[in-house]
Amino acid sequence: MAGYTPMIQQYLKIKAEYQDAFLFFRLGDFYEMFFDDALNASQELEITLTSREGGSEDRIPMCGIPYHSAANYIDILIEKGFKVAICEQTEDPKQAKGVVRREVVQLITPGTKMDSKGLREKENNYIATITSFADGQFGFGYNDLSTGENKVTLIESFEEVLNEFAILGASEVVIADDFDEEWKKKLQERGAAALSIENNQIESESFLSLLQQLKDQKQAVTSSRLLNYLYRTQKRSLDHLQPVLAYETSQYMKIDYYSKRNLELTETIRSKGKKGSLLWLLDETKTAMGGRMLKQWIDRPLINKKQIERRQSLVETLKNQYFERQDLRERLKEVYDLERLAGRVAFGNVNARDLIQLKRSLQQVPIIREIVKSMASNHDISVLAEKLDPCEEVTDLLETALVENPPLSVKEGNIIQDGFHKELDTYRDASRNGKTWIAQLERQERERTGIKSLKIGYNRVFGYYIEVTRANLHLLEEGRYERKQTLTNAERYITPELKEKEALILQAEEKSIGLEYDLFLNLREEVKSYIPRLQDLAKGVSELDVLQCFATISEERHYVKPVFSDSRRIVLKEGRHPVVEKVLQSQEYVPNDCMMDAERELLLITGPNMSGKSTYMRQVALTSILAQIGCFVSASIAELPIFDKVFTRIGAADDLISGQSTFMVEMLEARNAIMNATENSLILFDEIGRGTSTYDGMALAQAIIEYIHEEIGAKTLFSTHYHELTVLASELPKLSNIHVSAIEQNGNVVFLHKIKEGPADKSYGIHVAKLADLPKPLIERAAAILTHLEKENGQAKATPEQPVEQVRAAAEEVPESADEAQLSFFGEEAPKGKATSSPKEKKVLD
Ligand code: ADP
Repeated sequence: MAGYTPMIQQYLKIKAEYQDAFLFFRLGDFYEMFFDDALNASQELEITLTSREGGSEDRIPMCGIPYHSAANYIDILIEKGFKVAICEQTEDPKQAKGVVRREVVQLITPGTKMDSKGLREKENNYIATITSFADGQFGFGYNDLSTGENKVTLIESFEEVLNEFAILGASEVVIADDFDEEWKKKLQERGAAALSIENNQIESESFLSLLQQLKDQKQAVTSSRLLNYLYRTQKRSLDHLQPVLAYETSQYMKIDYYSKRNLELTETIRSKGKKGSLLWLLDETKTAMGGRMLKQWIDRPLINKKQIERRQSLVETLKNQYFERQDLRERLKEVYDLERLAGRVAFGNVNARDLIQLKRSLQQVPIIREIVKSMASNHDISVLAEKLDPCEEVTDLLETALVENPPLSVKEGNIIQDGFHKELDTYRDASRNGKTWIAQLERQERERTGIKSLKIGYNRVFGYYIEVTRANLHLLEEGRYERKQTLTNAERYITPELKEKEALILQAEEKSIGLEYDLFLNLREEVKSYIPRLQDLAKGVSELDVLQCFATISEERHYVKPVFSDSRRIVLKEGRHPVVEKVLQSQEYVPNDCMMDAERELLLITGPNMSGKSTYMRQVALTSILAQIGCFVSASIAELPIFDKVFTRIGAADDLISGQSTFMVEMLEARNAIMNATENSLILFDEIGRGTSTYDGMALAQAIIEYIHEEIGAKTLFSTHYHELTVLASELPKLSNIHVSAIEQNGNVVFLHKIKEGPADKSYGIHVAKLADLPKPLIERAAAILTHLEKENGQAKATPEQPVEQVRAAAEEVPESADEAQLSFFGEEAPKGKATSSPKEKKVLD
């Protein structure tokens, strides 16, 4: 270090403590970066790289960004997963002896963004923490610094930890420095942009009160690691942090990360965006807080019947009261993000405009509460109304303290109302009186001199002055005016009297601006003391918002309230895939029934490609999820069990763990389902076994079906293109065949997307080939090959206990062509979709 200038030495010393971050080193109006930071930042931010003398032989690489536009650059770096340490001058350069003292005042990381620009309104920004204990258990905790939410749980396996982590979409994870390398890699694969080290697990005074509700020492240790990290990096009061709440993953329906992605609950697989997901369909929330809560609810469907039914009854009340609901929606639109605002109050970065928004939001609350009360047809809604605490003290305070349209800056005055503070009023009077006095003086001077164009003006350099045009100069009394400035056409003068008044005015202004700033800080402190109440209010508003959102969707899309039975029955009449229905628009969507019970646990679905097998399976899963988050569901009648877990193995294999084949992943997911499913679970297997050779795949598919049938008894939908598997229905009493139908119409194949009983026609492909007018001998040859293959395949699925002949014989009993064998449990024919031509032209292919 020797040889470097003292400032560079200071830089290097500070940088040594923040090796994994870009150090933004404040130099006057700039943040400068040096050495490697400068080389890297100039590339990442596309800014000019320069260099400077630093006492060494070589010039030091340097790049810088202006202080006032730093926020944008910080966002870019954080978005890329970097950390930024903000190093400020912490003494007045004028008073400094030698190098100005500098300190890092905040470390900004992907998981601790507070700036509203970097945060997505309707999404949480979580930072997670993991502690592995000697007994094999894991502590898993998370926090959203912008809202103050704090949670912790204990988990038995790292696989499940990964799952929790991925579901939250946490961008950063705080761990000990001896954390397992293999685990670190997995966390990165699941989206951890930053891994941060914190070894301190001591329960510090500064956050002891947050741990009070925890009964388990391991939970406290886990949370302490994260809280220590937050206090260490943010270096300020974090009064908005909420007490850590313990939760259990078993309180919620378990949907593993891949299944969540496959079902496109919060984002689609292809675009990775919200559009096209269940969240997108449902999001009729009017507030940012409500938007975030909606996402949390979708991420964690309930399994407690009472809790679900509570939400349902609230949704029903809101759904039935159309006008009140519209009113409510209008009011909610006016409610600002109270949760994040409370966070920023604590963090110390709100301005007067934010507080005005807080005031306007709070002013809506009594009205919202009245609307909710007026709907009170049941106990739950009255309870919800009571939760909406308008925090009148804060409203009153803000109403009397702040002017209606304050400026952005809190350091230039004009934010506090007249009459709020005596001393401020006195200063303001002085300055206002002074200004009146000056206006009077102008009048007097005009009269005395007879110069009509004489005026008194003000500028920053000379202060107040009297301006007289050149043509009138001769009218001025000698010796009375002191010349200050000469313009082309005029002269500017001052008088001792004028200067005296000026001093008073400026002093009063300066004092009043200083006082306004102090008053604003006091106001902010006072609002701070209401943070817990504001946070409770925020929760009430968010919940109300999500419930009205469910009510709105349920009404608009003609959803029905599902009934939960204990008999593990699924009865869906005219069920629709909620998202596909929206995308296709209702007229085109063909509704389908679904019926499963103790005698009908597994459905084997056959049918041509693109006929709607996968849509049907997803429909069942999404309906169950809608039901368990408390929303109504896309069907005309719905009875459902409460599922403890949902497993899927569906199509799109692009989302896979690196270095593993599609088939391996398929098998891993199958294993996950088979090992963890219970009879209360729902399993969707789409074309499993497709990733390997035919016999191999078919054998596995059959074995999986048998295993679920015999050992698990979970409700299972299994789609396959192995037509041979349909004979299993005769062996396995709880397995039924269903298929998706298609018809020939005027020489074209039309998919009806209609689910029917029984297996699909095995020679469907040949029908289509015929329609396409392939040569007749070719068609006949294909039919012959099919018959031959069928014979061979018959052997492939024989079981030791059951000779082929028997299987074949049993297969004959299954209705081959279930032409009009609609799902008959509702005793009526289902609609025919869009095919409306006369029977003559129509030929059923299945
Ligand atoms: P498969 O799994 O049989 O290959 P998909 O379920 O992927 O078929 O469906 C193919 C397409 O058919 C979907 O993209 C969807 O647009 C349409 N579709 C599926 N089911 C229906 C339905 N019930 N009503 C209308 N269109 C449907």
